[in-house]
Amino acid sequence: MDLEAELAAARELDVAVIADAIARIGFECTRCGHCCRGMDEEHTATVFPDEVRAIQDSGEYDWRDVARPMPFGLTDDDHDPSGETFEWALQTDDCRDCTFYDVDGEACSIYDDRPLICETYPFSIALGEDGAGTSEPMGSVVDSDGPVRAHECEGLGRDISQDEARELAATLKERAIRELEEAIAVRDNYEPVDADGVVVHDSEGQKRPDGTSLADQQ
Ligand code: SF4
Repeated sequence: MDLEAELAAARELDVAVIADAIARIGFECTRCGHCCRGMDEEHTATVFPDEVRAIQDSGEYDWRDVARPMPFGLTDDDHDPSGETFEWALQTDDCRDCTFYDVDGEACSIYDDRPLICETYPFSIALGEDGAGTSEPMGSVVDSDGPVRAHECEGLGRDISQDEARELAATLKERAIRELEEAIAVRDNYEPVDADGVVVHDSEGQKRPDGTSLADQQ
């Protein structure tokens, strides 16, 4: 299935079906923080450009406080990163945790503005005929029901109310659509570049790590 076909399928998703799947699998956040922390790996949750700006709306944060270039494809020789990459990851701290995770309070400090991927963890949507996921990888799939995939999380299997399941299902559908819209825009706005340092290709074009447009600097 190409991206446009997947997007059409995502727009046709039935929220009630997704909600039933979530209710059957079951979920309650235990506030373990695993999804917000690097643990044994780098924390690389995707954040879209408009989500970065929504977080910035508080006036507290610069672009770099919120997001960093997705590290895949970059080299970091002598702490001087360079190369081209696609999309942004939530900024991390020295412990490789999400910078917005408050370890002492065991809570997200931008809870109301957290990105869609955080709102819908540990679920994703798979739309391809082969069951391939359209949502970005989030670790091993441990349960599935129709298009819904549940990824490793200690909160799975716990009771969830119908209202909560429906709210989560609606957000999961929104995320599936947004991820595909972003992927299409990244593809359509891609342009080869000839520039030193780090260049991020996102849905709005080519940018520097501080979020400024590369075109404005040339
Ligand atoms: S933005 Fe909030 S919910 Fe998302 S990873 Fe960071 S601390 Fe966790």
